[in-house]
Amino acid sequence: MLELKNVKKSYKTGNFVQHALKGVSLKFRQSEFVAILGPSGSGKTTLLNIIGGLDRYDSGDLIINNTSTKKFKSSQWDSYRNNCVGFIFQSYNLINHISVLDNVEMGMTLSGVNGKVKREKALQVLERVGLKEHIHKKPNQLSGGQMQRVAIARALANDPDIILADEPTGALDSKTSVQIMELIKEIAKDKLVIMVTHNPELAKSYASRIVEMKDGECLSDSNPVKDKKKETSYKIKKTAMGFLTALKLSFNNIITKKGRTILTAFASSIGIIGIALILSLSNGFDIQIDKFESETLSSMPVLISQMQMDINAAEINKTLNDKNLESYTTEKKVYPLPDLISTTTHTNKLTNDYISYIEAIDAKLISGLSYTRITKLNMLVKKDGAYKLVNNDNLSISVIPKKLDSSYNHGVIEDNYDVIEGRMPSKFNEIVLVVDSKNRLDEKTLKELGIDVSNDGISFDEILSKEIKVALNDEFYVKKNGYYTYNDDLRGIYKSDKAITLKIVGIIRGKEDKSLVTNGSGIGYIEELIDYVISENDKSSIVVEQKKYDYNILMPSMKFDKSKEGIEAKDNVLATLGAKTVPMAISIYPRDFDTKKDVLKYLDNYNNDKEQEDKILYNDMAAMISSLSGNIMDAITVVLISFSSISLIVSSIMIGIITYISVLERTKEIGILRSLGARKKDVSRVFNAETFIIGVCSGALGIIIARLLLIPTNAILKDLTGLSNVARMNPLHAFILVVISVILTLIGGFIPAKIASKKDPVEALRTE
Ligand code: ADP
Ligand code: MG
Repeated sequence: MLELKNVKKSYKTGNFVQHALKGVSLKFRQSEFVAILGPSGSGKTTLLNIIGGLDRYDSGDLIINNTSTKKFKSSQWDSYRNNCVGFIFQSYNLINHISVLDNVEMGMTLSGVNGKVKREKALQVLERVGLKEHIHKKPNQLSGGQMQRVAIARALANDPDIILADEPTGALDSKTSVQIMELIKEIAKDKLVIMVTHNPELAKSYASRIVEMKDGECLSDSNPVKDKKKETSYKIKKTAMGFLTALKLSFNNIITKKGRTILTAFASSIGIIGIALILSLSNGFDIQIDKFESETLSSMPVLISQMQMDINAAEINKTLNDKNLESYTTEKKVYPLPDLISTTTHTNKLTNDYISYIEAIDAKLISGLSYTRITKLNMLVKKDGAYKLVNNDNLSISVIPKKLDSSYNHGVIEDNYDVIEGRMPSKFNEIVLVVDSKNRLDEKTLKELGIDVSNDGISFDEILSKEIKVALNDEFYVKKNGYYTYNDDLRGIYKSDKAITLKIVGIIRGKEDKSLVTNGSGIGYIEELIDYVISENDKSSIVVEQKKYDYNILMPSMKFDKSKEGIEAKDNVLATLGAKTVPMAISIYPRDFDTKKDVLKYLDNYNNDKEQEDKILYNDMAAMISSLSGNIMDAITVVLISFSSISLIVSSIMIGIITYISVLERTKEIGILRSLGARKKDVSRVFNAETFIIGVCSGALGIIIARLLLIPTNAILKDLTGLSNVARMNPLHAFILVVISVILTLIGGFIPAKIASKKDPVEALRTE
């Protein structure tokens, strides 16, 4: 039994109050066809909406199942609308972007009727209204009468006890109206049908009871309910929309505006593209650096020099702050700043014993070993018939690291350089020229070697035919008046059979993929050359005499005292002259990244039982470079990602706006869903589903575009750095970015979805 008790409803617009219902009391039977007649504005629709639970009354009561609805919660109203009431509107109110069948099924979908039953029932009611052939059409492909039949089918689908029809034939021609009325009359056989109309003829010919309304009041009732027995019981089931339904609704809606959705997804994917590219680049560079470390940096030496900076940040800090001085003090005093170099410099005592220790290292572990010496090579060249001293200051010349045991490795030079002409030196008097990636060689060095510098290039033959002489001390220096000086007789020196004839036997060039460690050019000689020169010069009279005197034998005004500095200075002069001394530095080239650990362990072992001052400290060049490059990459990545994040924020604001527009556009749909029993939650779910779809699309689109952009990016990088396939996308990053995109769009769409759920269903239905 449905009963209205003195129901009042008024609308306030500004200061004006419109009393739409001024106390209506009506009782309805379990099944009858009630027509509510009355002029426009008399409150018919308001009455119907209140009966249907779409609108709330101000005072009075609506009795359903003998229960007052005064304390109804909104979820109870939703269930009531869904299970007990079917609405038929003048303007059909179908959802245009889903099929006829889906429209009819929507109420059942909301109450969770299972798929098969739902389909069966929908087909059954559609057959009943005569639309079986049109089930897959969209509503706007149908005629007005057909659309109203769909609406009737929808109202019937959930098998409600009450059908509420608001001017169902108002928009139809008279012939179609009659058909629709017949259908409604048919329905009214076993249901309560309340139909609003302002057409008295229709009311009279079809309805079993006519209620007349005027100015919000009941004027007459042709067949009022007198008896008060006959209890009715309406079933009220809970409704809830599944997320899949919400997705389907939103998906269909999105399909109707593909262009906009694609543009939105694209625009909001830009941030994702940016971040994906940056991550791919930094990820790629990380991989590259790792590779670079293990392949290329392993060819960087471990350096042991006589003066070793002991770079220990804690130590330096302690030295600088040991007095706890205040910054920007007003105190009128000056304090000494300790000499960092002397406090942090460790003197490595490179003894012959140590050299022997080094040379006893397992040959498998290293691919090269070289000594840095200051021994001067006294070189002469012949150019255009004249003899010329080579100024060593203008020469870039260095020693080729030696292999300890050729059976174990190819040697650091073979690993990193290609021989592009001739061969590598095998005898002490053989040298190679090292050219850079563009076959260039330091111009000063070329000039010093007496080679004509030409912009058209110098032929390999011309270079390979060049001879250079290295004079030994006894020819190079002569004693005059008790002191030593340079011999002027260059021709004599050059022609002397004691002079070493250096032959350029090959030209080598850094390998393409090793361009980061092989960028120099110059002359390379082998250790045997310097060994030979030293063994000869150590016996030379200038060296023998220099050892005896406490002044520079070439520059008598330079005295050596007995201080540490004095002894060092004398040793330097002797070393330059070719006396047998320990080298200035030792470079050890580990064979690869793994053996480097063993090499370092070997070096550490030497220090085990040594006092601090006798320890030999070393510098791992590769470790210094790679830790630096790793830090820089991380910093750059963080900065770039924070820039791109701004575009993510912009895109989530944009999604908010787009969703809001969508809410405005779909207001009517919100009303329809609410009239079918959708909860507020379900409505916001529909819009969250929409932003979810956009979020997934923009995330996926961003990843796809970024992936495509990696192709030209890698091409450009290859051009710039010679490295192929640097930028690589980590699948985990891609996944996380899609998730972030979804989360951000959901956040952006959250408020509009909330707004949508709060919309008043009556108002929503009224919008066009
Ligand atoms: P009917 O359906 O009989 O034409 P309604 O029930 O729609 O009449 O309206 C009854 C009265 O209430 C009318 O004067 C109408 O202007 C007013 N009214 C209805 N809905 C609203 C509303 N949301 N805000 C303000 N006035 C309203
Ligand atoms: Mg009306």
